[in-house]
Amino acid sequence: MMQGLFGGYDEGNCARFLARVRSLVILADARGRRRIQAIIDAATEQGLPITEFDFCRDTALADVDRAGSFLRDQPIGTRVVMAVDEAVMKVLEPVLQHIGLTSEEVWVDAEGPETAPVFCVACYFQNPPTGQTYILCTQCSRILEVSDHYSPRLHAVMGYVSLPEQRGKAASRCVSRQADDQ
Ligand SMILES: [Zn+2]
Repeated sequence: MMQGLFGGYDEGNCARFLARVRSLVILADARGRRRIQAIIDAATEQGLPITEFDFCRDTALADVDRAGSFLRDQPIGTRVVMAVDEAVMKVLEPVLQHIGLTSEEVWVDAEGPETAPVFCVACYFQNPPTGQTYILCTQCSRILEVSDHYSPRLHAVMGYVSLPEQRGKAASRCVSRQADDQ
């Protein structure tokens, strides 16, 4: 997976990414668009020409072919900001490489299982992204097991209500794994 090298969206990072850039291309779905607002603002302030791809289908994944041709049509020297699902990113990555864009020229913000909110199957609340196996749902206070099942439709990983006996087993597994590590 292509990695954005620029870290967070603070002013310094945005400025570094946009330094000596002639034009900017944006490829973001509705959620991604909100994440990258800081870069768009910085580019607008610099007076950079911005070309934005319009995902007009109901899912970004349905639109990847058109997105691919859009990227192929961009002139050399353009910088690209992509904020999409990991699934969409996986399809578009070969296109970027084929065009010859390096990881310095592409800001990638791909939302996937590791960065996605945790959807509580009991109360439908979207809890913030986590690295934990178990979390307490912020809204219904149930203990949720964070699965690796990512739903592109919900833009979230499923958080299943966890039963105490399962947690006991999982906890003992964790302990024996730690013991193995030592
Ligand atoms: Zn809940």
